[in-house]
Amino acid sequence: EVLDTGLQKTKKSVIDKITHAIAGKSRVDDEVLDNVEGALISSDVGIDTTLEIISRIEARVAKEKYVNTSELTSILKEEISALFAGDPTETEGFVFPDDHKPFVIMVVGVNGVGKTTTIGKLAYQFKQAGLKVVLGAADTFRAAAVDQLCIWGERAGVPVIKQQMGSDPASVAFDTVSHAVASGADVVIIDTAGRLHNKVGLMNELTKIKNVMKKVVATAPDEILLVLDGSTGQNAFEQAKQFIKATDVTSLAITKLDGTAKGGAVIGISHELNVPVRYIGLGEQINDLQPFNNREFVESLFE
Ligand code: GDP
Repeated sequence: EVLDTGLQKTKKSVIDKITHAIAGKSRVDDEVLDNVEGALISSDVGIDTTLEIISRIEARVAKEKYVNTSELTSILKEEISALFAGDPTETEGFVFPDDHKPFVIMVVGVNGVGKTTTIGKLAYQFKQAGLKVVLGAADTFRAAAVDQLCIWGERAGVPVIKQQMGSDPASVAFDTVSHAVASGADVVIIDTAGRLHNKVGLMNELTKIKNVMKKVVATAPDEILLVLDGSTGQNAFEQAKQFIKATDVTSLAITKLDGTAKGGAVIGISHELNVPVRYIGLGEQINDLQPFNNREFVESLFE
């Protein structure tokens, strides 16, 4: 299926590393566990999450006395899945409330991570699901950003609200939400500029956008979606931590997992950040965005 194909590079890399880690050994012992630890860390899983996985396996080996290395992949799959067991944030994509509309999604993330593409893919999915969608081009700093969003709006068949280059992003957001209310739209997706190098500036701008939208729809924003480039592995993880400090991020989308061997990062990000991963990007086409599920991801990785 799509997930398996999309994750091919990561899968191959992880399986190769695990195979290497147990090469020539029939029993899971300290040396094998050390090797597996190294394999997970170098697969971008994240140090804390890796240590947690290893200590789970250690406990299991201590209990079962003799564990054959041939069982290791399935043990890894079980123990990593168990990390996510009962995760209250586990879900498949956004959950739309039935007590109000429009559902307002503000999208944040640094330039180049795939923000515009993700917005286009989401708009398309929601439209296909029968929802009425409006996009807002509140990244007014780059002409290319507005143009790109308009291209995606056309592809998805949804309107894009924009103003002149350099205009106030909060004003664009206000217009977009107002347009959505007036036209009875179900979903609003607002693109914002991603300038992490100026954290205070970014914080102020995002706060202003939020406050202005609330004047039109008190519940807005329903979601602040942070888009991360999965092909940057641990960098994506660090970037997420910084954004979470700058604003109240409620969900994550991790892009470009199709072209990378660093998809293991999703495990650490999902486990450690306390912000649910809602979507993953597996290609450049309009259909290449999947609602994310922790356990499905792990299943697919170790299959
Ligand atoms: P933005 O600057 O964050 O808005 O980034 P864009 O949406 O313009 O995307 C930057 C580049 O990443 C474009 O070439 C996209 O086609 C590409 N891209 C975005 N998402 C994905 C994905 O899931 N997989 C792949 N392979 N490429 C992607």
